[in-house]
Amino acid sequence: MELPEVLIISQQMEKELAGTYISAVEVSNHKCLNVPFEEFQKTIVGKKVLSVKAKGKWFVISLGAHMIFFNPGMGAYILYYTSDSTLPEKYQIKIECSNGTGITFRVWWFCYLHVMPTEKVNDHKMTAQLGVTSLDESFTLEYFFELLHKKRGYIKSFLLNQKNVAGIGNFYIHDILFNAGIHPLRKIPSLTSEEIEVLYHSMRSLLQKSVELGGSKYEKDFYGNYGGFDAKKHFKVGYNEGDCPVCRTQIQKIKTGSTSSYVCPQCQPL
Ligand SMILES: [Zn+2]
Repeated sequence: MELPEVLIISQQMEKELAGTYISAVEVSNHKCLNVPFEEFQKTIVGKKVLSVKAKGKWFVISLGAHMIFFNPGMGAYILYYTSDSTLPEKYQIKIECSNGTGITFRVWWFCYLHVMPTEKVNDHKMTAQLGVTSLDESFTLEYFFELLHKKRGYIKSFLLNQKNVAGIGNFYIHDILFNAGIHPLRKIPSLTSEEIEVLYHSMRSLLQKSVELGGSKYEKDFYGNYGGFDAKKHFKVGYNEGDCPVCRTQIQKIKTGSTSSYVCPQCQPL
C-alpha cells in the first residue's frame, strides 16, 4: 500500500465517517498500541471524527483534541461496514461508530495504532519525522529543488526514504524514474535542473494517475473494491520482463541496495 491507496481510503473514510461518534473499539493484539488498551479506549470512545488525512503511508484521524495514527505495515484491508453489512471473517481491529457503521482492519503482518493529544503530535516520532507527502499541495517544484539541494547519494534511495518524501515505496518508483529517463543509481549531484523538473512531474503525474484509477488493482479500497491501476497495463518498465516500449531494449531487473529495480539501460543511462 503506497500513497495513492492510502489517499483514496482516507478520502473515502472521511466521507463516510466525518461527523459520526466513535462508540466502541476492539483490538486483538495490544502490541500495536502506544498506550494501554484501556487508555486507548477511554481516549477515543465518545469522540467525534472530524477528518481523515493521509500522511505518507499513515492514516491520521482527527478527533479534535486527539489524533489517531494508523499504519498498515506490510498491507491491510481497511473496510467500511454499515448495519446492513456482513462483517469480514477476519480482522484484528474494529472501530465502531454511533450510527451503526464502522471500520474493520485486517493486517497482513504488523501495524501501528497510536493515539496522541493533538497539541503533542510533534512528539509522535514515527510521523513527525516524515517528509512532506508527495501529492500534497505544499510539495511544489521549488520545494523539491530545495529538498535535493546539496544532497548526496542515489536518487532512488533518497526518494524511497520516508523522511525525505512520504508515500513512495518500491512499486511506483520504477516508472517514476523511467518516465524521467533517470537511472536509479544516478547520484543526486549529477542531476541537472531539467532532470529534476522532469522527475518532479513524473512522480506527481504517475501517483495522480493511480489515484484517478482508484489505486493499485492488488489493493482494496474502503468499500472492498479493487483499484484500476494495473502494473501490467500501466507500467512501462516496472515488473516488465520484456522489452522497453519506447526503444525495444530488453528491460533489466537489477539490485539497487536492498531493493530491486526495473530499468531500461538505453532510456535510463547511468
Ligand atoms: Zn528504452
